[in-house]
Amino acid sequence: MMEALSSTSQTGKLMSNLFRHLPSMDSVLDALSGHSSLAELPRPMLRELVTSFLDSLRQDIRSGAIQSEDELQLKALLPGLIAFVRAQSRPHFRRVLNGTGVVIHTNLGRSILAPEAMSAVADACANYSNLEFDLETGERGSRYSHVEQLLCKLTGAEAALVVNNNAAAVMIVLGTLAQGREVIVSRGQLVEIGGSFRIPDVMEKSGARLVEVGATNRTHPQDYEQAITENTGALLRVHCSNFRIIGFTKEVHAEELVQIGRRHNIPVFEDLGSGSLSHFYGGELDEPTVQETVAAGVDVVSFSGDKVLGGPQAGIIVGRREYIERIKHNPLNRAMRIDKMTLAALEATLRLYLDENSVKAKVPTLRMISATAEELEQRADVLSSLVAERYPQLSVSTAPGQSRVGGGSFPERNLPTTLVRIATPQGQHVDALRTALLNTTPPLVGRIEDNKFCIDPRTLRDDEFELLAEVLGEALDAMPLSS
Ligand SMILES: *Cc1c(COP(=O)(O)O)cnc(C)c1O
Repeated sequence: MMEALSSTSQTGKLMSNLFRHLPSMDSVLDALSGHSSLAELPRPMLRELVTSFLDSLRQDIRSGAIQSEDELQLKALLPGLIAFVRAQSRPHFRRVLNGTGVVIHTNLGRSILAPEAMSAVADACANYSNLEFDLETGERGSRYSHVEQLLCKLTGAEAALVVNNNAAAVMIVLGTLAQGREVIVSRGQLVEIGGSFRIPDVMEKSGARLVEVGATNRTHPQDYEQAITENTGALLRVHCSNFRIIGFTKEVHAEELVQIGRRHNIPVFEDLGSGSLSHFYGGELDEPTVQETVAAGVDVVSFSGDKVLGGPQAGIIVGRREYIERIKHNPLNRAMRIDKMTLAALEATLRLYLDENSVKAKVPTLRMISATAEELEQRADVLSSLVAERYPQLSVSTAPGQSRVGGGSFPERNLPTTLVRIATPQGQHVDALRTALLNTTPPLVGRIEDNKFCIDPRTLRDDEFELLAEVLGEALDAMPLSS
């Protein structure tokens, strides 16, 4: 009993002694000031982080994890402290390396912009602009004027308007054409896009009433005909972005629906979803372009700016002038308007489409979608040699695989690629590597197949390979050693 007591008090004495060796706030801040990457941090943030680091040291002393003064020397603490401050002070929203091979990955920011678009954004942000100023008259102008002509030229439409995203576009088109009225849509096109965008729900919120016709797999022209009443506000077609109905199917083509609309004097609206301006594959799996949809006579067409188009987030609406004018004057439009950065990026991206021959090389999304299997095999070889040379402990190989366009485009179309596959050393779990890679700077997102960590070069630039090799090293250092 006595012995136990005295040994406890001895430990207590040792501990309080250790507490006294904790470095002071000032000495820590002083030591950190020599690190340029940390010196830029807001002072209060730095203090707060140091406080919590010192708190964790106290915790370690109490638990016995720290037992000697040596461990509390500033020099010994510094590497851990710097890593801690770096990790805790990173911006929350940050860059990642996309090794998934999903080109339009909604969770990873969809399309990345062409350099031309990025510099237009930088210019628009750094300076005043003619956003809503007419330089010919010196009076107030319209923010839509900057892209309307370009959109009309590229799509063949009479007029155009841009809102925040395609979900907003669908909402405002329906709300303008069919507020309090019926909108007829095929049961095969009652799409859910994800992120709670469902056509029936959007329809309800827009103030239009949904009238479903046909069956899931088959809808005929007479299904629409028979559903038309004096209260019909629009006929709607929705692109089946993320699924295909195959087998015994029948869809009413845009041309047919336009004929029905014309006969009854009812506008036809098509939500194209991805809305491509170029053909990729030809044949059955290709999707109709915006131009083709406009040419088919569809009165209003909407699509996203950041899916296959490869621009900024936006909802682009093109079509007949009378309808576009009505949509522009809908008060909701003010709540959905795009900002100057989007406008700058969109105009610059659309301008690249003026040259059909170079656009696929210049717009990153198009370039990644059109990368050939041979090119990807070569790039996978380069990446895998780089990784294998740098980390001999890993077993690195390449194997044929599939990439996807994503973003609700070409749902059935898998694109052939070559994957770089990394097997973790004996005893280390591939899942530990995957997790460690989510914590590197920048994080690397890939996928696990056959118990190997797989990286698809399709969604990485050549100039990211070196960085990828570095973060792999960072992850390996951070992984718990096999036992
Ligand atoms: C993606 C998509 C939308 C939503 O577009 P956002 O730009 O993400 O708002 C709407 N309809 C269809 C058919 C889509 O594929």
